[in-house]
Amino acid sequence: MLARTFGLAFFTASAFGGATHAASVPASAPTVNGTALAGWADVQKAWLAVQMLPDSGVWDRLAEMTDTFGPRKIGSAGYANSLKWLSDQLRADGLNVTNPDVPNIPTWARGPESLTLKSQPNRPNYNIPVLALGSSIPTPKSGITAAVVPVTSLAELNTTDVHGKIVLVNYPWTGYGAASRIRALAAETAQGFGAKAVIIRSATPVSQRTPHTGLSRRANIPAAAISPEDANLLHRLYNRSLIDAHKYPAPVVSLNLASTYRNETTHNLFATLEGHTKPKEIVIIGGHLDSWDVGAGAADDAGNLFAAWESIRLIQKAGIKLKRSIRLTGWADEESGSSGAAEYTKYVQSETKKPDGERHVFAIEADFGIAAPTGFGVATDNEAGVKALPLFQAAGAADPFINAKGWGAVQGGDYAEVDVSFLDDIGVPVAAPTTAMTSDRYFAFHHSQGDTVDVVKRDELFANAQAIAFWAIVASELDVAWI
Ligand SMILES: [Zn+2]
Repeated sequence: MLARTFGLAFFTASAFGGATHAASVPASAPTVNGTALAGWADVQKAWLAVQMLPDSGVWDRLAEMTDTFGPRKIGSAGYANSLKWLSDQLRADGLNVTNPDVPNIPTWARGPESLTLKSQPNRPNYNIPVLALGSSIPTPKSGITAAVVPVTSLAELNTTDVHGKIVLVNYPWTGYGAASRIRALAAETAQGFGAKAVIIRSATPVSQRTPHTGLSRRANIPAAAISPEDANLLHRLYNRSLIDAHKYPAPVVSLNLASTYRNETTHNLFATLEGHTKPKEIVIIGGHLDSWDVGAGAADDAGNLFAAWESIRLIQKAGIKLKRSIRLTGWADEESGSSGAAEYTKYVQSETKKPDGERHVFAIEADFGIAAPTGFGVATDNEAGVKALPLFQAAGAADPFINAKGWGAVQGGDYAEVDVSFLDDIGVPVAAPTTAMTSDRYFAFHHSQGDTVDVVKRDELFANAQAIAFWAIVASELDVAWI
């Protein structure tokens, strides 16, 4: 996840679910302002058929793709191969699959990299686990060897002499919003003070000496991340050197990064289950297909994409025909600039101008890992979202199955994940399923070698598929004008 504005707003919203509904509720049509929800009987008919169906093996498919092709950095063979494999699977499921171009986007690729602590005479040179930040320039081939100067904030650079040094930004973790802002801006800021390179403490609250990558704004000095433990080690060595530099030599490191950058065309993934009576009205569900180039991108974000895929399978297997079209989206390039969503938004706008074009009536994206569902969050920063909120609240409160599971709480707020935020901006109502995910659990693995299928639980993955199916059925079957 890279929530908009570096996630700040995301965490001010009640993103972690909140209270669940335990009360018994009637199965008759719920009302909003005294009016019964039009189409509720169709919601119930479809959902009753879907809710009893078993898991078709969604976790095993997630494991197969991530094991077979590895991570899916945009521009990599892993992305291209995963896109093809998944497109073939979705075609075999009978969906209408397209892979439209996302032209000429900057793609960055990691090369060999190392960071070595060299200055400590009483310990052998230590190879510090390191990950270049996305879009970092490479170091010269011979590397950069320089003294490390720690700061705990970017503001401290104003009062610290870092000229010719490698800056270590060892900030205290206060949440992903602040951490991702430091990650994005550290190189650009430190270069202004004459630093040779920047190293940040990884954006994570929990670590087993594992660095976490992420996007940095492109600057003229290299940028990399190390684990919190190693950031603290370098910081302690530096502090001791201030007391007695002879007894405690200051930390000096050698940084070598060999990253490359080029422009190329990539592709989004769309798979559509055509609607029966309103096929031109599109309900989007899904997540982003790309990931960082470490780990397997199983929690970020293939798990949510696969949960949405499974929800379409449930609808197909139930043998019901929905009114509106459900479109599974595997967005390209969420991690490095959201060009896939930006390109699709151009398509949406051009369709809206055509009298017989597609109308995008609702868009759901999940991008905060996989945990037990708790409900639904509707983005209320456009008019259509404000109108949709009470309808989903009524639906969530009225369905017996959803309530028995504790998945019925619907809240309004900043629930536009990055890709669908482009649609949010042009007036499409957007939403995200809410779950019991916590920051400690999610960011422990996020953008690191630790994001493998092992962090996704089978039962939670399938529960998310069921929950997404319910919210998609509500969006499809209610006889309301969403936009
Ligand atoms: Zn993500």
